[in-house]
Amino acid sequence: MDLRAAECNHLMSRTASPHATRRRVLQGLGAAAAILPLDPGLLHAAAELPFVEVASGIYVRHGVQEELSAANGGAIANIGFIIGADSVAVIDSGATRQQGEAVLRAVAAVTDRPVSHLIATHVHLDHCFGHAAFDTGSLVSLGHHRLPRALAERGPFYLERIHALSPDFASTTFVPPTRTVEDTLTIDLGNRLIELAAWPAAHTDNDLTVFDHRTKTLWAADLLFDARLPTLDGSLLGWLEVLDRLITPDVDLVVPGHGGISDGRATLARQRGYLAAIRDGVRDALDDGLDIPATLRRLEDTGRADWLLFDAFHGRNIVTAYTELEWE
Ligand SMILES: [Zn+2]
Repeated sequence: MDLRAAECNHLMSRTASPHATRRRVLQGLGAAAAILPLDPGLLHAAAELPFVEVASGIYVRHGVQEELSAANGGAIANIGFIIGADSVAVIDSGATRQQGEAVLRAVAAVTDRPVSHLIATHVHLDHCFGHAAFDTGSLVSLGHHRLPRALAERGPFYLERIHALSPDFASTTFVPPTRTVEDTLTIDLGNRLIELAAWPAAHTDNDLTVFDHRTKTLWAADLLFDARLPTLDGSLLGWLEVLDRLITPDVDLVVPGHGGISDGRATLARQRGYLAAIRDGVRDALDDGLDIPATLRRLEDTGRADWLLFDAFHGRNIVTAYTELEWE
């Protein structure tokens, strides 16, 4: 690990309060993002963001809290890995082959154990389009049972977006899982059991979480957003139901798909508040006979003060909620 990673490790000390930790991490990410435009040579420096040990044997690369861009190299999601006594499970590979390669370098920097499992938490391009960097013939590639269909439907479109960012990303492609999870699946990495859970439609229709029994860490991926506005691409009502069951009492630490790490409770409550406000607002609009444009105008500021990237995604969330709730 380089010096920056070591500093970040220090900042992520578990002795800090979750809020203080989040604030420091976000400040750190902001500083990293701010230097990128200064030097074209740093164009893809975001693909080299540090991997931080957030719990014993669990490493996370925090994505920057920005929209996808050439400057950030698509490194906007939290990705990482868990090390067992025998082998390593990688959880999400990022948006590009380069990010997948960065995961492999980060693994090699801290252990000589092989990667035995490559886990995709869901179809979105910022999470699982670095899979091409891995030799999927020598490991088990896992995803939700609905992931292969979602990749077939969305993959070509997502690839166009990635390839348009930079010619450097031309070799990025998408790789469907070789094994899918119907309900739950427990994996032994060697004295370390991790449990995969496939959820009903929520953030997407193919959300998968990972729970590490040793540290009681839940890798919630995009079922939980911290600071950045949650994006609705599955089912609003389904997501609200999933949130009721997502963080069980035995969970000590939660890794969200975006943002800082904490025990997850406050993050979940804030997200639930936003999604419930959308649900209630859209239901009222439907009761009042409003069409989508009128509903968008009425709800244009719902939650605005609470979230990063609000304008980029809030309108789409409203439209998605409207099309779901109008059939109630
Ligand atoms: Zn997502």
